[in-house]
Amino acid sequence: MKVLVTGGAGFIGSHLCDALLDAGHEIVALDDLSTGNLANLTGALARRGSRFVHGDIRDALLVERSMEGCDAVVHLAARIGLRIIVESPFDTLDVNARGTESVVQVALKRKTPILITSTSEVYGHSTKIPSNEGDPICFGSPTVGRWSYACAKAYDEFYSLALQRERALPVVVVRLFNTVGARQSGRYGMVVPRLTAQALAGEPLTVYGDGTQTRCFCSVRDVTDAFMSILRDIGALAGEVLNIGNPREMTILDLAKRILERTGSKSTIEFVPFERAYPQGFEEIMRRVPDIAKARRAISFEPKVGLDEILDDVIAGIRAPAHR
Ligand code: UDP
Repeated sequence: MKVLVTGGAGFIGSHLCDALLDAGHEIVALDDLSTGNLANLTGALARRGSRFVHGDIRDALLVERSMEGCDAVVHLAARIGLRIIVESPFDTLDVNARGTESVVQVALKRKTPILITSTSEVYGHSTKIPSNEGDPICFGSPTVGRWSYACAKAYDEFYSLALQRERALPVVVVRLFNTVGARQSGRYGMVVPRLTAQALAGEPLTVYGDGTQTRCFCSVRDVTDAFMSILRDIGALAGEVLNIGNPREMTILDLAKRILERTGSKSTIEFVPFERAYPQGFEEIMRRVPDIAKARRAISFEPKVGLDEILDDVIAGIRAPAHR
């Protein structure tokens, strides 16, 4: 196969490009390098069957040229990171909704199967734990910048699923829960690389609130395996929405303690009130846990990489960025 990976220079996109090349496929990585980094693709671009295109997904002509000859698309390009989203909700909506429309429209024109990445953010303030694909989505007020991201991603889901039903576009939607591993930047939020970098630098670990909020962390290696399974069977899975994540739940305070142990750092833990941690336009989500029963059934998905291994990947990536 030849696969177009939008956001191919990003954290997840670049790992997917490596996995596709390892499996003998060709890749085209399209990225505007806003949060993506060409260094993530150093290994991939040195291999046969890979190509990089620099540009914006809202540029339909460029998307069309990039998709030429491709058998499938994985759409990962998006504005991401809480800090960026809260500070620029317009750009978040424009790239994540209009940009996705542009990619989906080209896929429709070329009848190319497409995997759309959405997010666990669409479950928002839902109190039903774990979150199931059939649950109502439940995010906050449009006056709160954070929700621009969930809103755009929910729109992407409605838009692409409607084209699947009405125009037979082969679409699979994946809702990613917190995904971590080497190459992820802590610059825009992203608690695991942030706290790990703080621990390695001997700085205090900034735990927001009292640290009782929980998340479930899934290795990017497990996520790319799931993408590969979906790509193998994308025709049969068309129209499905799948949660992909690791259901093991932990508090952020326990995560910080585990990072201290794993790095051997003597750093302290500093509790930062939410009002100080984020600009206005922020609401914390206190719990987020995926129900992955459907992915287990549909693609035999089973996360294999435990938290210590994930932390070792992140630590190694920060210590030796050239070899990550
Ligand atoms: N967090 C934290 N310290 C940081 C960054 C994040 O305590 O330096 C917390 C944040 O409040 C949230 C969790 O870690 O509860 C996950 O944050 P992230 O931005 O990684 O992802 P989210 O799941 O919120 O999208």
